[in-house]
Amino acid sequence: MKKVFCLIIAAALTLTACSRPDEPASDMGDSPPSAAENEKISVVTTIFPQYDFARAIAGDNAEVTMLLPPAAESHSYEPTPRDIMKVQECDAFIYVGGESEQWVEDVLESVDTNGKKIITLIDCVDAVEEEIVEGMEDDEDHDDEDFDDDDVKDRALSDWAGEWKSAYPYLLDGTLDPYLEKLAEEDGTKTAEDFRARYDYAYNTDADKVTIDDSSITYYVNGVANKTRYEYGGFKILLNESGQKRVRYQFDAVGETNGAPRYIEFSDHLIAPGEEIEHFHLYRSDEGHDALSEEWERWPTYYPAAYTGDDILEELTEGGEEPAYDEHVWTSPKNAKLIVQRLSDAFCEIDAANAETYRSNADAYSLRLDEIDAKFQSIVDGAARKTIVFGDRFPFRYFADAYGLDYYAAFPGCSTETEPSAATVRFLIDKINEERIPAVFHIELSNKRMAETISEATGAEVLELHACHNISKDDFASGANYLDIMTRNAENLQKALS
Ligand SMILES: [Zn+2]
Ligand SMILES: [Zn+2]
Repeated sequence: MKKVFCLIIAAALTLTACSRPDEPASDMGDSPPSAAENEKISVVTTIFPQYDFARAIAGDNAEVTMLLPPAAESHSYEPTPRDIMKVQECDAFIYVGGESEQWVEDVLESVDTNGKKIITLIDCVDAVEEEIVEGMEDDEDHDDEDFDDDDVKDRALSDWAGEWKSAYPYLLDGTLDPYLEKLAEEDGTKTAEDFRARYDYAYNTDADKVTIDDSSITYYVNGVANKTRYEYGGFKILLNESGQKRVRYQFDAVGETNGAPRYIEFSDHLIAPGEEIEHFHLYRSDEGHDALSEEWERWPTYYPAAYTGDDILEELTEGGEEPAYDEHVWTSPKNAKLIVQRLSDAFCEIDAANAETYRSNADAYSLRLDEIDAKFQSIVDGAARKTIVFGDRFPFRYFADAYGLDYYAAFPGCSTETEPSAATVRFLIDKINEERIPAVFHIELSNKRMAETISEATGAEVLELHACHNISKDDFASGANYLDIMTRNAENLQKALS
């Protein structure tokens, strides 16, 4: 996948190299080169909100392009070579900077960003992490939770070849304390000490280091090496009580073990050979693999030997990636104002000659945003209730926070899940019935199926709250904008809170 994408970038850049216009000539007298009169600045945006803000601020002074086609799903969008050319040639590039735009990083690494304004919406506001509320299905955890059994493939011991170190010593010496504290904070009921006890059992191993080759594992216990040969014994797919699915790869010792475990199983969240292993869990037993199938509480964990204790801490606390900020920052009109201000500043810098226009357009737009903000606030202030229910994903964290709304939903905002479990649907139905909530929301461009199911069971009206990721072709053709969509949202919110 990644490789194919690199080829697309390469192809795009070859095209740009041939078609790129020459640098502006420098014989333009006194006028600054970037502010040539009658020459529009070019602004490229990924999705609708910033496209809409940018065109409102720029007016006729810019060519504003949205890469995402109208009505397309923003989370699964991938750029075409043409799109990459546009990014290469623009004066300002505005993207969200969240999880679903990871492709942008690859593009920006490969194009010349000199002299370009590059703005992310997430940096314009106080970003918060995506929240998992009661009843919501979380698919953020590990990537082997949701897979087709048919896709699981055999793997050889060489898949884990290399030098690995145990996380256990770092639990003992306190390096991982911040992780335990984070777990306690997220949990709310258990303390960091409770988690220390759990991990003291889970991580416990006397082999601080292991090295693995094609056919054997060498365990280092108190500095003494013990090399044992293993043979592959197949994989098994386990499902635990909380519905987590895991693949375990089994190996059996051949011949003498000298105290090394006879039966071992690897779990590393991967289900096929050849992928990069970030860490693995090594289950071991002398009794047999059946005993290990019951084992969910002990998961000795190994990281690449080159990792420091801090690297391991970072992997654990951040899942090895950037913190998962909720990217739907624009759903709050208060945030939209901050974004508009930032875009206006950027346009003024690129094109000082038209700064007056950009500022006055941005001010006018901000006033409209103030109006819609006040409208939402008065609806919530006068409402009979403060709880909204989504039979859908929930990209409205910033919106809900802005007006003090509580919410229940099936999935977090960027979830790729669309099929909820029966328990999730039941939970939402019960909430609506208990609190006599008159409406169930779906988001834009949704198949509405879940909301309709919930509506049939409760009598709640199915309504749309439009998160503005993208708009329909009809809306696009009729020139609908963020303010129009938010005005529609206000009407529906009023019904839902009555
Ligand atoms: Zn793991
Ligand atoms: Zn989203």
